[in-house]
Amino acid sequence: MVQSSVLGFPRIGANRELKKTTEAYWQGKVSVEELLKVGKEIRANNWKLQKEAGVDVIASNDFSYYDQVLDLSLLFNVIPERYTKYNLAPIDTLFAMGRGLQRKATETEKAVDVTALEMVKWFDSNYHYVRPTFSHSTQFKLNGQKPVDEFLEAKALGIQTRPVLVGPVSYLFLGKADKDSLDLEPLSLLEKLLPVYAEILKKLAEAGATQVQLDEPILVLDLPENVQAAFKTAYKFLGKQSGLPAITLATYFGTVVPNLNAIKNLPVAGFHFDFVRNPEQFDDVVSILNDKQTLSVGVVDGRNIWKNDFAKSSAFVQKAIEKLGKDRVIVATSSSLLHTPVDLENEKKLNPEIKDWFSFATQKVKEVVVVAKNVSGEDVSAELAANAKSIASRASSNITNDAAVKKRVAAIDEKMATRAAPFPQRLEEQEKVFNLPLFPTTTIGSFPQTKDIRINRNKFVKGTITPEQYEQFINAEIEKVIRFQEEIGLDVLVHGEPERNDMVQYFGEQINGYTFTTNGWVQSYGSRYVRPPIIVGDLSRPKAMSVKESVYAQSITTKPVKGMLTGPVTCLRWSFPRNDVDQETQALQLALALRDEVNDLEAAGIKVIQVDEPAIREGLPLRAGAERAAYLKWAAEAFRVATSGVSNKTQIHSHFCYSDLDPNHIKALDADVVSIEFSKKDDPNYIAEFQNYPNHIGLGLFDIHSPRVPSTEEFISKIETIMKSYPAEKFWVNPDCGLKTRGWEETRLSLTHMVEAAKHFREVY
Ligand code: GLN
Ligand code: ZN
Repeated sequence: MVQSSVLGFPRIGANRELKKTTEAYWQGKVSVEELLKVGKEIRANNWKLQKEAGVDVIASNDFSYYDQVLDLSLLFNVIPERYTKYNLAPIDTLFAMGRGLQRKATETEKAVDVTALEMVKWFDSNYHYVRPTFSHSTQFKLNGQKPVDEFLEAKALGIQTRPVLVGPVSYLFLGKADKDSLDLEPLSLLEKLLPVYAEILKKLAEAGATQVQLDEPILVLDLPENVQAAFKTAYKFLGKQSGLPAITLATYFGTVVPNLNAIKNLPVAGFHFDFVRNPEQFDDVVSILNDKQTLSVGVVDGRNIWKNDFAKSSAFVQKAIEKLGKDRVIVATSSSLLHTPVDLENEKKLNPEIKDWFSFATQKVKEVVVVAKNVSGEDVSAELAANAKSIASRASSNITNDAAVKKRVAAIDEKMATRAAPFPQRLEEQEKVFNLPLFPTTTIGSFPQTKDIRINRNKFVKGTITPEQYEQFINAEIEKVIRFQEEIGLDVLVHGEPERNDMVQYFGEQINGYTFTTNGWVQSYGSRYVRPPIIVGDLSRPKAMSVKESVYAQSITTKPVKGMLTGPVTCLRWSFPRNDVDQETQALQLALALRDEVNDLEAAGIKVIQVDEPAIREGLPLRAGAERAAYLKWAAEAFRVATSGVSNKTQIHSHFCYSDLDPNHIKALDADVVSIEFSKKDDPNYIAEFQNYPNHIGLGLFDIHSPRVPSTEEFISKIETIMKSYPAEKFWVNPDCGLKTRGWEETRLSLTHMVEAAKHFREVY
């Protein structure tokens, strides 16, 4: 029999129980016992659901109260001293490391004030992990035994699981040196770390685990020689230990082929590879297996929500069986299902035709089982027939296919993706229109999304206020924001985005070809979950999406107001994309929809238009090479298609955040002005990298994630530092990002100080 395997299941609960309880715990509203109980229930439900579906290899230790990488840091005692000194309970240490902790002193406890560890995107997903942070004083030792506890918990329910841990090489490689130990190379700690890995694996074996899954996702990156060699060191060490469970080494989100040498001849029981992303790696990876090693064939997509094509997956697995025999092949999800929503059955409002094309985590579990049964020769003809029908219906649906859109994309040419004149000439024409002072000030778009705004939006959605009443409310909000900006003396204004629930969803809801879930939550980090819209078909804009609000805002002020749009790459990246059409095509379809919007804004008298692309960096393919080069080309092209339909006089802005940007990537967009998140970048080289950026740029001057208000002097000193290496005539003054999560009080003060600092420099220069 061919076995089935799920690499990990979402941990948030079918109704976001984990979020609700965790946040209540942070607010002191529920006890730690209650929080632990909810965690235990979620784990039990997840295991039972998989067991009942007939999954053979079920993961444990895939659960976390915050992040699985952070769990490992806690387990291995990789806890910087600034967190241990408060003697917090383990779970509070975990949360303090994940999100920082500020607590006033009480009669019994002293005050706590510690910031979070760095949080980074997990490969090319929208999940964020907490970066392991090592110092010279790091002493690896087991601190608790979470993987063993959870294994035993499942065992007590009669469910044998395969514990999963991030493997030693990836764990170190994904970490960094702490501020006090910058000369430390994390990978140099491998030999000290390995005995502790062996110890936890041994404990798992003693508890009854026969297998473990060690995730080494860094194998899909470009790895230097020493990192490749570390795999041999690590797995040979583990291979020499007696009494460990059988190890499956798992990779996902890419191809391992360039790193095959790193994993050839490793003494592990088997490998898992992602064949959804990279089916073409099959022959190469099979060639390195010895004659006992198993192959876990990832064919059910852990990163998207489309129904699996059983015929296609079965044929693929069959190929593996022919080479290796049934006993050595396992049908699996491509990665953990962490990146997919929990259960499609919770969607009550989806169009049934479309719903039939989807599969969320709960459904994917069953898919793995059906494919395994099918290739084992069991009769699953009913499932196969139903599946073939859904696949065919999607392929031929007129929801997915729009001939007019296809035709328009095919007609895109270089001219459409190029502004009428190069930047210097545009600048000259724009200067005449705007006549801005040196150090022009602006913000990134949103202003505080107050409770009042959310209440009124809900009323509007529910129909308890009329569209006219809602419009009046929104206009009053816009007016408030405009008057405020005038009052404090900002130069280029925004309308504040009060009408938007989310920067992608707001546009997605107005674009044909998108659909939305009501409960399709996916963990982004900690207790923050997102509900990505789903691109189901060819994308087009039936009518203007943002013109009304921008025109109103511009009508009540003489200062320029920026039209504000979300760019094509960000709309694509923060959605579940189609898997039947390539990403480039989807980005270009979005680009055309946005181009129409940009042109409409211009025609309606809006002279500055900002098209945000905060997700452009995360879309970058993980490896250097042809795919990355192609991405850079089409991502920039999509942006330029969206923004090049306007005259030289119209000023195009763009904005980026959440990542370390490469100025060359931004250059290719040819926006007149860009603003980037900058306030927390303490690396002086990062400024220098932007020195030669040809167009105008605003380096974000304050952190919008924090309620902290920088003083005017602080702004001045920040700008002074930047001015040491930066030309004043190119420099804009702005915050890091939008202000929607901030309160009004701190927003008022911070922006006032920022504008004062700009005025100071106008006198100096
Ligand atoms: N214009 C958006 C805002 O200000 C940009 C948000 C973002 O970059 N994440 O909210
Ligand atoms: Zn931003």
